[in-house]
Amino acid sequence: MAKLYQDISKIKKIDPLELDWLTLAETREIVDALGAENLRFVGGAVRDSLLGLPVTDVDVAVTLPPEEVMERLKFAKIKAIPTGIEHGTVTAIVDQQPYEITTLRHDVKTHGRHADVAFTDSWEDDAKRRDFTMNALYLDDDGNIYDYFDGLSDLANGHVKFIGDANKRIEEDALRILRYFRFLARFGIASINDDAEGLDAVVSNANKLTFLSSERIREELKKLLLGKDCAAVLALMMEKGVWRYILPDFDMEPLRRLLAVEQAIGESDVYLRLIRVLPKKMGDIREAVKRIKLSNAEMAHLMGLLHPDPRITADMDEIVLRETSYRFGIETLKSFAILNSEPEMADKLKELLSKLDGYEPPKFPIRGRDLIDMGLQAGPEMGELLLMLEERWIESNFLISRDDLLGMVTAPNLH
Ligand code: ATP
Ligand code: MG
Repeated sequence: MAKLYQDISKIKKIDPLELDWLTLAETREIVDALGAENLRFVGGAVRDSLLGLPVTDVDVAVTLPPEEVMERLKFAKIKAIPTGIEHGTVTAIVDQQPYEITTLRHDVKTHGRHADVAFTDSWEDDAKRRDFTMNALYLDDDGNIYDYFDGLSDLANGHVKFIGDANKRIEEDALRILRYFRFLARFGIASINDDAEGLDAVVSNANKLTFLSSERIREELKKLLLGKDCAAVLALMMEKGVWRYILPDFDMEPLRRLLAVEQAIGESDVYLRLIRVLPKKMGDIREAVKRIKLSNAEMAHLMGLLHPDPRITADMDEIVLRETSYRFGIETLKSFAILNSEPEMADKLKELLSKLDGYEPPKFPIRGRDLIDMGLQAGPEMGELLLMLEERWIESNFLISRDDLLGMVTAPNLH
């Protein structure tokens, strides 16, 4: 259980034993391999720990050059991938847990997206090249916090504040526009009034989003969609003309209803949210999905959710439940039920979802093997026969027995 800190803005030191991700054996291996004196944790892990939120990915800043990081990890038998070694980043993987380890650096020259970097031994220089004050908080292995730009008080106020001149920082890297909105969605849009400068800068530079790669947009967008204030932030992005550089404007109402349903059932799903921000027409959806370049698996998942069977509702009867659980599987059924629900039906929906947790869809009792044993030839005709039998079985509400199904098969004359 993460600890809640009283006044974040004044914290100087925290008890490292209170952070479960820091005491984790995997993290200890990394610290031992690199040497506690050479590293500080930074980014989301520090920020979210201070807020008492769970930590999933851990970013580490080190004074060691990347080649030495690689060597030390190798020596400690930790899997190391040189993910971005030319700009100082190595990803270490211990028991599937990834750690992004980046050598302290400062930006030398920037060209819109990529920066030439030089390594440094100054923590403050490293902090300067980070995007927001709340993301430039460092934590050493003893629990000391280092804050170079008043990030703690911004964090306490939910204030997403650029380090340095916002316009310049966006010119260096337009992804920061999207990151700004994603952190706003996460930490509360309420503080936006305190930050006209940041908002003005992201809005006036919005056209630079056009130059970003789809992969970078996709990752930030997914995180934005999962933010607690995502509806308000997306509305703001549309109002300010920013969203159209990512995807076409959309109708907020269906998204708001989905969010209300999700809130009531205590679950959230980035793909369901994504569906609600995509255009309606199939051709436009294809264009939009290209823009955010989903992987093939994600794409197939999303496409499978686009047209929920309208019979799948929170109060569907047992017969429909049996049939649709068989046709779509439990996970898709759950998603369809959520997509087809209105917030007013949340209680019924909750009941359905908990019932589905242990629900076993019927299992078709015949395999191709059974037909081969009866003397039928494997091939397309057998496939068709199986499909026909399956359809009859579904229509009977799964009541026809295996023997009766096999009895329907007329074996060909055997020579
Ligand atoms: P999350 O919890 O989603 O991982 P995060 O803040 O750790 O949030 P990452 O994308 O993992 O975000 O980046 C780690 C850190 O690297 C950030 O906190 C920030 O200090 C720095 N960073 C990442 N992307 C940028 C960027 N485009 N410009 C400047 N600094 C960045
Ligand atoms: Mg991170």
